[in-house]
Amino acid sequence: MHEFDDHDSIILCHSCDLAVRKRALPSSSRAICPRCHTVLYDSPYCSINGMLALCIAALIIFIPANLLPVLEIHFLGSVRTTTVIQAAVTVWAEGYWVVGLAVMVAAVIAPGLLILSILTQVMIVKLKLHSSFWQRAYSTLLKNHGSISQMTMLEIYVISFLVSAFQLSDFSDVYFGMGTFSFTMLFVIILFLQREYNLEHMWSYVDA
Ligand SMILES: [Zn+2]
Repeated sequence: MHEFDDHDSIILCHSCDLAVRKRALPSSSRAICPRCHTVLYDSPYCSINGMLALCIAALIIFIPANLLPVLEIHFLGSVRTTTVIQAAVTVWAEGYWVVGLAVMVAAVIAPGLLILSILTQVMIVKLKLHSSFWQRAYSTLLKNHGSISQMTMLEIYVISFLVSAFQLSDFSDVYFGMGTFSFTMLFVIILFLQREYNLEHMWSYVDA
């Protein structure tokens, strides 16, 4: 795979149309137009090994985040716990199937797909899988990356656990379980993963 084969190409400045020869940049620096000082491009900053580590951490925490209770409510001697998946199923069973489906997609399915997609991309780059099958799979994953990452909305659920805990705490005892901790950790890991991930840089690994 050609690592930075686009660095000899000519790019045009977005504001003044000056033609600039693209060169490799040291990490965490920017190329600036010599005439009008517009930022032309950032150095590709995603580290493949860093993303691999984050993907593995995310996969490990994904299971307890979805299977352990995120809320535990003690009310008049009874204890009720709920997981994210149970909450989605309950809402669905109450007739609000659109809401239940939205919870399943945004909190469970999309984050899972996002982790698996980035992990597959990282493995294809790392293992230098050149065959046309893997190259096709790689570009398909890159093309779908935007929509999957837009559907991932873990932050909404982290906030809603906190809001419901405050509201319920007036008349019942609310406890956060290991599930809440795992879910919040999953949110943080995915946040870092998306910060590290650079779609443009990932495209540069595609075999010409
Ligand atoms: Zn310029």
